Amino acid sequence: MKPILLDMNAEEISAIMKEGGQPSYRAGQIFSALHLGKEFSEISNIPKALIAALEDKYTAQPVKIEKEFPSSDGAKKYLFRLEDGVLIEGVLMRYKYGNTLCVSTQAGCRMGCAFCASGIDGLARNLTPGEILGQIIAVNRAEGGVAGDRAVTNVVLMGSGEPLDNFENTLKFLRLAGERGGICVGQRNISLSTSGIAPKMRELADAGFSVTLTVSLHAPDDTVRERLMPVNKAYPIKEVISAARYYFEKTGRRVIFEYALIGGVNDAKEQAAALAAVTSGFPTHINIIKLNYVKEKKLRGASKESVRVFFDELKRRGASVTLRRTLGGDVDGACGQLRRSYLDE
Ligand code: SF4
Repeated sequence: MKPILLDMNAEEISAIMKEGGQPSYRAGQIFSALHLGKEFSEISNIPKALIAALEDKYTAQPVKIEKEFPSSDGAKKYLFRLEDGVLIEGVLMRYKYGNTLCVSTQAGCRMGCAFCASGIDGLARNLTPGEILGQIIAVNRAEGGVAGDRAVTNVVLMGSGEPLDNFENTLKFLRLAGERGGICVGQRNISLSTSGIAPKMRELADAGFSVTLTVSLHAPDDTVRERLMPVNKAYPIKEVISAARYYFEKTGRRVIFEYALIGGVNDAKEQAAALAAVTSGFPTHINIIKLNYVKEKKLRGASKESVRVFFDELKRRGASVTLRRTLGGDVDGACGQLRRSYLDE
């Protein structure tokens, strides 16, 4: 595989230009064009010889849309193909305030959460910064063209993979996404979702990032959480909450806790009370969502009634909580499911 130019920031591209005897302003032209989704041959304001030299050495766009799956609720699921044939997926969700794209940070995942199809085959490989970014660029181009329309206004790192298990590449992606002349999605518009790798949550705060940190909790006690999320053995709830508090103290951003309600597993009223207690003491918010049915895992979402009781109990205890819609349910919206059904075909 050729090196991916989209992995590089403007300064790194500038160094390549310098080496090739090109004026430094070419770096900005190339950087902006790549972030609009252009292939080298489509960059009209650089010399043909330079286009040929770049084509020879580098890949411009490492992410291609393999297939689109529109859902009846307006969401659209994408299956992306990378240069080496690896398939990853993303979902575009349309809200009143803009369009949010959920992107993958790894092909597969090694965290092994019980409710997730992404981890079934383990980790295939980490994605490079440009491959994470390339998903947004591909959707921007597919939805808005190359005229500079940016269809994607918000990004959630919540597709397949654990972003903090691909730490350096995720950090570089965050920097690239906010760079001038690029896709211009700032940290305030990015959510990073983690299964709770506590030391990396602290490192993220120490590195000066202030993205919205979303922690998948899914249970208020270690016994149930360990069953659902093996990562809890390494980082139990107490450590995860302490790292979340640290993130808030460093960044001033309240931390979001994700909680997927699974029938008969984590949806009891007492568990709602315990959840309100463990997430209290600093600014937090809880998103509860009914689990999408995961056929490989035989896990079902909670009933409508227990979702209502759970939500009411959290409210009654003063928690800040939102009941989220399940988007993309009819196109295998839960992470990892689409890729698997496509591979099964
Ligand atoms: S839920 Fe996220 S962290 Fe857990 S296995 Fe799936 S992709 Fe990995």
